Amino acid sequence: MNLRSLSLRLVTWYAGVLTVVFLVLAALTFALLRHYLEANVLDNQARRARQIAATLIAHASRDAEAAVGAQVENLYSPESNDRFIRITRDDGTIVYASGAPRGERFVPSRVPPLGAAGTASAARKVPVGEDALLIAAVPATAADGTRYRVEVGTSAAPLEATLRRLLALLAVGLPLAVAAAAAGGFVLVRRALEPVERIARKAEEITQHNLSERLPRVHSGDELERLSVSLNHMISRLQEAIEGSKQFIADASHELRTPLAVMRGELEGLAQDRLLGRETRETLGSVLEEVERLAEIVESLFALSRLDAGEAHAEWRPFDLAELAATTAEQMSLLATDKNLSIACDSRPGVLVEGDPARLKQVIVNLLDNAIKYTPAGGRVRLSVRREQGFAVLEVADDGIGIPAEALPHVFKRFFRVDRSRSREQGGAGLGLAIVQSICAAHGAHIEVVSGPGRGSTFRLRQPLAAGTPLPV
Ligand code: ADP
Repeated sequence: MNLRSLSLRLVTWYAGVLTVVFLVLAALTFALLRHYLEANVLDNQARRARQIAATLIAHASRDAEAAVGAQVENLYSPESNDRFIRITRDDGTIVYASGAPRGERFVPSRVPPLGAAGTASAARKVPVGEDALLIAAVPATAADGTRYRVEVGTSAAPLEATLRRLLALLAVGLPLAVAAAAAGGFVLVRRALEPVERIARKAEEITQHNLSERLPRVHSGDELERLSVSLNHMISRLQEAIEGSKQFIADASHELRTPLAVMRGELEGLAQDRLLGRETRETLGSVLEEVERLAEIVESLFALSRLDAGEAHAEWRPFDLAELAATTAEQMSLLATDKNLSIACDSRPGVLVEGDPARLKQVIVNLLDNAIKYTPAGGRVRLSVRREQGFAVLEVADDGIGIPAEALPHVFKRFFRVDRSRSREQGGAGLGLAIVQSICAAHGAHIEVVSGPGRGSTFRLRQPLAAGTPLPV
């Protein structure tokens, strides 16, 4: 998994932000709920204390304090209700104090007084031992003017238990909610970014050879649609520019052919004119050589531009590559003999391929021509054609000077020459192998080279056999 992928980064951020938001919300909810519940309980206690003050104490007198205590017991039964009730006279005498509650959660005698009798009302949470009490205190005045303080409280334990349950629920629920949201977010982001993946895959496939193809258009109405449309516009502009420059090369090479042919004819005539001096004729001869080289380059450029334009398959037919190789080797053996080289041809007929025989002949000629050019006298050039698992394999091997490793990836590029001075001497412009590759590409064939300096070179072409080729006997 790519840790830097956009979807993963987005989801990580999303999950992080969501966790922080959830935590803040949970903390706020918890704090507000605790405050609300405590205020509510304290309110109830205060109401009860006011009730005692208004209904029991207001009508009593100092002599009837014992009766007030009994009435409180009767009406409120604080022990069985886990409640704390205490009535204190303003001189500090405790007139009534409830006993230990049923659950024995707190010891009533340890509950500190909540302000002096007769002072203003108070309500708060008071720690008592391990527990805490929520107590409200109100002042009360008896019929004889004696002032009291009525304190009513209850244990905070049930409320704390409720809050603890809420905390446990949040501790389990929050991670689950974040995980579910993150998983959902991941699916959504992946779905939203899926067109990017498709666009990238298609963009990888588009080269100068299939510039007419376009990236898939995303119909999402968002930035991705804009991106796909803009990229397609850019590809259209690139296509126009490349086609323009290809057209220029095609036109220029076509226009140059005729004047060059005329110049060649004129120069050939002049070079043979006996009336001109020897030196002049020699100069004319070397000019003629250069014009011939120029004409070859122009022819190669013209051939390449036609191949680039994608020729019609009108000339295509099934033919025997082995036979074509044998006759071509035969025709070129004279060139080899001139250089004191031998060409060995090993090709058994019956290797049927489909294509333009004239074009594939040009491939064999260019490969043999290079092998002859770059192999010193006395060397050997081997040409072989065989069938191999549904493919026709043509090999041109020599034991010549070879190609250095750093030049190997470039030999099929236009105008590339390993050693410009050496190649120029031999008459090459660096277009022969570019033509070979263009023809191979047009025929669905693959060409590769194995070579090393001083170890000779082997060019290997693999082309699918023509459909219906009989199996070898
Ligand atoms: P050129 O017309 O200059 O030979 P090519 O396109 O045919 O151009 O070849 C490109 C370069 O590859 C040449 O400059 C040459 O150095 C090298 N090359 C091609 N074939 C061979 C070979 N059989 N042996 C050694 N070098 C080769």
